[in-house]
Amino acid sequence: MQAWNKISRMPAPAIKKLQEELLGKMLTEELMVRHPYYKALFNEKGINPAEIKSIDDLNKIPFTEKADIVPREDDLLHTKKFVLEPPAEGEGKEKKKGFSLFGKKETGPDPGDYTFHTLYFSAGRTAKPVPIEYTHYDLDNLKEAGMRAFEIMEITRDDTLINAFTYAPNAHFWQTFYSTIGIGSTALQTGGGKVLGLEKILKALDSMEAPALVISPGYGRFALLTLDHFGFSAGNLEKIVLGIDFTPIAVVDRIKALMKELGAKDDQVRRIYFNSEAKSGWAECAPGFGYHTNPDHILVEIVDPVTGEVLSEGEPGEIVITHLDTRGTVLLRFKTGDIATGGMTTEPCPNCKRTVPRILGDIERKEHIYELKGKEGIVSFNGNHLRRVMFAREDVLLWYAELNRTDSEDTLKVIVKGVSGTDEEALLPALKDALVGEFNLALTVEGSSLDAVANKIGLEKNITEQNFFDNRMN
Ligand SMILES: [Zn+2]
Repeated sequence: MQAWNKISRMPAPAIKKLQEELLGKMLTEELMVRHPYYKALFNEKGINPAEIKSIDDLNKIPFTEKADIVPREDDLLHTKKFVLEPPAEGEGKEKKKGFSLFGKKETGPDPGDYTFHTLYFSAGRTAKPVPIEYTHYDLDNLKEAGMRAFEIMEITRDDTLINAFTYAPNAHFWQTFYSTIGIGSTALQTGGGKVLGLEKILKALDSMEAPALVISPGYGRFALLTLDHFGFSAGNLEKIVLGIDFTPIAVVDRIKALMKELGAKDDQVRRIYFNSEAKSGWAECAPGFGYHTNPDHILVEIVDPVTGEVLSEGEPGEIVITHLDTRGTVLLRFKTGDIATGGMTTEPCPNCKRTVPRILGDIERKEHIYELKGKEGIVSFNGNHLRRVMFAREDVLLWYAELNRTDSEDTLKVIVKGVSGTDEEALLPALKDALVGEFNLALTVEGSSLDAVANKIGLEKNITEQNFFDNRMN
């Protein structure tokens, strides 16, 4: 990755040119030489990577999907095919490449850049987790991406920070960890509810007088709603950073309101969009201004999720990523399964003036868009919207949804635990009315106990809570 103060102010055409140079280098000097999967794919499809000169030529390369990468029963090492093989001894040292970025002397690849360091896995809510291999080169990039995200969110070394992301081998926790090391701030790496538990996290927030809390949206919301119960104060809290799971703007507003109600010093909410396969998370400078990507690390395309057609700026579509400067696992045109409802823009950010490409709108997961069998045919149900509605409500503490199948139709059941002090007898019918109005589906709403719901969604058990259970295949 390059100098951030330069990249973040570069005009869009210069960013595009830089990305094309990096892409060319990645294709011809890395993938064609030492990437088992793509080397074979290029051969099989008759693709000459040297002919891919511009980003517009990228569509000559097929997409890579999660199903292409996941370990196979007959080949548990299949994902290894996506990892760059280390260069041969002395490789490239004699060759004159004539291609060097920023006058860097071409001395051939450094074998140390390719040495396996660790695996981070995708969060794997419903799909199989994908192991993504990091080398020390990637770890440096993860730290750089994290420090950039902190700068974008205006988190400085003076901000004591509580990292409540779940401790696990994933990019969310470790990017945050390395960012705090990188900027040299005071930070408590709690490991999240799974490791430290909510009471201790909230106690730390209070007693360390921490202004910044990094947490997933569902757990963060739950934490704020139970703070009073534990008798702690949020009086020093200024900023909550939400990540791991996606946070719709409506939920940002809800969290801001909760911070105000609790007497927090300020009500700033910032969002990070983590994509495990992108080996980093991208931050927003302020809610609604979009996720500021790192164009010297990852190339982002927005495509039609069905046809794969590359879409114009601002059109909603699926986020597709290409690694431009990574080692270990390298992916080309990887379909993330995430939809950007506002597409992407290369216009400078109206808020912070940074010029890097931004991903706009709410992020929605394709896997939460369901086709349900209705009495009059197939109906589409966007679970992302249910998630948004439920998390934005003032009266809901925890919830989950089940999709069930009867002979005649598929039904949606929402199971809910109200906020302490809520009249459950009033909550259930009111919630049902609201959901029927929004979703036009056969649905029921049921109340349940805190323990039962918490247990079902894996609160303090999973990396992040699971809110959808599709029972139709069982
Ligand atoms: Zn901005």
